[in-house]
Amino acid sequence: MPGRYQGYGFGNLSQRLTAFTPAHNPNCFLITGTQTGALAHLRSADYALVTNACPTQNQLTAEGLAAPSSEALSHAVIYQTLPHINFVFHVHCPTIWQLSQQLAIPCLPASLAYGTPAMATAIASIIKDKQVQTQGIISMLGHEDGLISFGETAEKAGWPLIHYWLLADNG
Ligand SMILES: [Zn+2]
Repeated sequence: MPGRYQGYGFGNLSQRLTAFTPAHNPNCFLITGTQTGALAHLRSADYALVTNACPTQNQLTAEGLAAPSSEALSHAVIYQTLPHINFVFHVHCPTIWQLSQQLAIPCLPASLAYGTPAMATAIASIIKDKQVQTQGIISMLGHEDGLISFGETAEKAGWPLIHYWLLADNG
């Protein structure tokens, strides 16, 4: 993936984390903070613990030294909608994103901007589809290069990105 991201695909990663959360909210999750893309190694201070989220009202409560980005709302809606999902990855990958429709990746319409309540509602709706859950990836046509993958484990959340990147790159 040469070009704009120098071979990388910046974004944010999260993991559902229920064991140590004060509120015992099953949808709590740990997410990389804003502006951590340039760091080679993340410290605990570079994460935020999202203890409560209401994506449809654009509200987020978090603890920790790092601030979660507005993109955390899209992670929150996946944890709230699919109880078996424990990892959500959001990346910017032009190689896959530009071929989203040719690769039959489930797509959210270009009219939806990322980090908005409307986007959160659309994500909740599309991921209820069993086929979408099997693919484990969605493309946001309204968020340039934006993809979200998800899975029960980190490996399962990462695999769709590798799978579709290989397909796109060899296309
Ligand atoms: Zn993004």
